[in-house]
Amino acid sequence: MSKKTLIVIGNGMVGHHFLEQLVATPAAADFDIKVFGEEKLLAYDRVHLSEYFGGSTHADLAMGTADWYAENNIDLRLGEQVTGIDRDNQTITTPMGEYSYDELVLATGSYPFVPPIKGNEHPHCLVYRTLEDLDSIRASADGAKTGVVVGGGLLGLEAANALKTLGLDAHVVEFAPRLMPVQLDSDGGALLKHKIEELGVQVHTEKATTEIIEGEDARLRMNFSDDSHLETDLIVFSAGIRPQDALARSSDLAMGERGGIVINDQCTTSDPHIHAIGECALWSEKIFGLVAPGYTMARTLASVLNGDEEAAFTGADMSTKLKLLGVDVGSIGDAHAQTPGSRNIRFNDEQAGHYRRMVISEDGKTLLGAILVGDNSHYDTLLQYALNGIELPEQPETLIVPESQGGAPALGPDALPETASICSCHNVSKGDICGVIDAGCSDLGSVKAETKASTGCGGCAALLKNVVDNELEKRGVEVSKDICEHFPYSRQDLFNIVKVNGIRTFRTLIREHGKGHGCDICKPAVGSILATCWNEHILATDHVPLQDTNDTFMANMQKNGTYSIVPRIPGGEITPDKLIVLGEVAKEYNLYTKITGGQRVDLFGATLSELPEIWEKLIAAGFETGHAYGKSLRTVKSCVGNTWCRYGVQDSVGMAITLENRYKGLRAPHKVKMAVSGCTRECAEAQSKDFGVIATENGWNLYVCGNGGMRPRHGDLFATDLSDEELIRTIDRVVMFYVRTADRLQRTSVWMENLEGGLDYLKQVVLEDSLGICDELEQHMADLVDTYQCEWKTAVEDPEKRKRFREFVNAPEKKDPVQEWTTERDQRRPLLEGEPA
Ligand SMILES: Cc1cc2nc3c(=O)[nH]c(=O)nc-3n(C[C@H](O)[C@H](O)[C@H](O)COP(=O)(O)OP(=O)(O)OC[C@H]3O[C@@H](n4cnc5c(N)ncnc54)[C@H](O)[C@@H]3O)c2cc1C
Ligand code: SF4
Ligand code: SF4
Repeated sequence: MSKKTLIVIGNGMVGHHFLEQLVATPAAADFDIKVFGEEKLLAYDRVHLSEYFGGSTHADLAMGTADWYAENNIDLRLGEQVTGIDRDNQTITTPMGEYSYDELVLATGSYPFVPPIKGNEHPHCLVYRTLEDLDSIRASADGAKTGVVVGGGLLGLEAANALKTLGLDAHVVEFAPRLMPVQLDSDGGALLKHKIEELGVQVHTEKATTEIIEGEDARLRMNFSDDSHLETDLIVFSAGIRPQDALARSSDLAMGERGGIVINDQCTTSDPHIHAIGECALWSEKIFGLVAPGYTMARTLASVLNGDEEAAFTGADMSTKLKLLGVDVGSIGDAHAQTPGSRNIRFNDEQAGHYRRMVISEDGKTLLGAILVGDNSHYDTLLQYALNGIELPEQPETLIVPESQGGAPALGPDALPETASICSCHNVSKGDICGVIDAGCSDLGSVKAETKASTGCGGCAALLKNVVDNELEKRGVEVSKDICEHFPYSRQDLFNIVKVNGIRTFRTLIREHGKGHGCDICKPAVGSILATCWNEHILATDHVPLQDTNDTFMANMQKNGTYSIVPRIPGGEITPDKLIVLGEVAKEYNLYTKITGGQRVDLFGATLSELPEIWEKLIAAGFETGHAYGKSLRTVKSCVGNTWCRYGVQDSVGMAITLENRYKGLRAPHKVKMAVSGCTRECAEAQSKDFGVIATENGWNLYVCGNGGMRPRHGDLFATDLSDEELIRTIDRVVMFYVRTADRLQRTSVWMENLEGGLDYLKQVVLEDSLGICDELEQHMADLVDTYQCEWKTAVEDPEKRKRFREFVNAPEKKDPVQEWTTERDQRRPLLEGEPA
């Protein structure tokens, strides 16, 4: 029997997924398959497009390889646009020729809508959809200072983040009164706007652009209908998408009123030999702008072509969970309470910046929708309630208030029914996961390989891991210590891989030893490992995307959105001249000052753009960064010691300063605190620190792995009567062994509790060199000491790094988003919630 010809138009995410599905069925053998892609590059992951600016290449983002197409006998024709369809003769036309088909699949996706604004054809007016678009944006950003994104939806905010990554002052101009109007309500949108402005992106809502003309101080000027204007060097339009349906329209297929190729439940158009999937297809009057529904259509069509008469596309869940510029945003189901009779429950903590809304059914039993801004930790639980119709608890509000205020704990995997959808991109239920585990999968990686769960948009990664770990544990299988789904290694393994192979970027590590694009778990962990191994600046271009908010701005963000500044004061010793400088700077910038528990001075209330100015002054006076924002050494507290105290037997201040200067800047799995007391009276409370030193008549006693804070732990006596050199050598070894072997975010106290063999084992490794690694540990520490740099000094001296701290260049009057201050005990402080101004 001669084969039929199947032509696919469009080699995007959905077109590629369709082919993957089809070749896995017997029907593939019936077809000669041809694919036409207008873009020159093989299908790539558009969801992670922005990572291109973080250094990912097309190869990193590609969804398959040319070899895969060849192996499956698929004739892939890239850079060849289909220009016409002749339905009567069943042919398509491209500039290269005419081709016949028996079955035709339209997977042409969508294109960015550019509003018809006069001047929008200017060469610095761009869009954000393809890798080529990103090349154009990068070229335009060269020599530019300011960039505007038109559109405050999901993609617009992602584009704004990209402009910021390129070092531009980023603005978002939105026509609607709030950001993300499709997913969020007015309170959620307002909080998101506030948070995004705190991060240095200026948001202009309710702005209708009337024209774009030549600018005076920048390349372009946008005039708005309210007579205001904004100057910018480039504009990225991200004002929604439109289905790419021109071919279907010109061949008279049934179309939606506002575009889109009409399909039935079998993903077939009004022509029985033409099918449409992905963002070009209109099902039940809906266009789906997410990848998961497109994948479901692709699966459905592959089954239909394979003769499955039951296969049907029945709609898709449009819930979204995102991190936009580092801000958590979630939107589930009927977020706008459009179901008749539905009721709302809201939790709004303005201090913490968390907003949650539940939309529940009239009888209070079912969750219909939800909105989350600022904290997505409730997302997975709420989504499962909504998707699976799980009956709500008697007091549904317990699902969104914090546990400390009577909130219910997150829904454990056991509470989910077998039918619970875990991965909507690949339609994987909890039952599917249990099935593959019963059939032999014994770790997360193999479950993913078998089911494809969490290989689409990745939003379900945490939930999948929970379910898999839980099911494995129930079956008595030891749960893997893999750091996350992207690396089949523990943090300790990753450390060794980085060190041994001399790997210096996250990109190389994930390309050579991991998979996917990384997540909020592995990125900061690898960022910390790279910093410990090579001591490169944390704001180096390759490393910035790995840092969390505090490290990104090298300052702790406070609850009103301002930042604090903590210069290092080694051992708590400070000269009057330096104290005066601290006072002068605090007065000049109206900063609240407080002596911290670690014996230094914390300056609160600085705006983002003030940070480099303030640090410049402090550095000129001889201060350095105190790393209060980093997972690294904080302070070495000390008592006054034998210089002043009549009980003192050693110079505790001198030793504290030596230790602080030695270990400052060292990035660790978590923060590290030290203290030195001048005698056994222990005024510096050294035994509650990660490393505590207490003077003896003969030298120093060393205590390790103590902790204050939430879970206090008394340090373990590790060695006694050490000389200065012995003390430093011993701490070098313990610190480096901890840095290499601890899990992410594991304090030394928890590390010790989990260390097999405990204190005795640690003593053997460090004091007896049982593993033969002590020379290496010491050498690593010596290298770090030699390559130390004050991160803030480097940043203020580098104009490119300084750019990160600029706020609103075009509107200096909007410099400080937080105006709600009051005076208390002669100092400025933010107003508390509900407190009158
Ligand atoms: C920056 C960005 C971030 C996103 N983030 C998310 C997210 O977080 N979650 C999510 O679910 N979705 C996200 N999306 C949306 C997601 O990428 C799309 O849903 C998905 O790419 C749709 O796939 P598709 O194959 O239908 O269309 P596309 O991926 O656009 O592919 C269509 C292809 O067809 C080609 N084509 C069109 N016409 C022709 C022709 N006549 N001849 C030949 N070829 C043609 C196009 O050039 C294109 O390559 C994001 C999109 C972008 C741009
Ligand atoms: S610890 Fe000892 S030396 Fe230090 S201040 Fe207290 S009593 Fe004095
Ligand atoms: S104990 Fe620490 S975290 Fe808690 S309120 Fe005080 S400063 Fe903040």
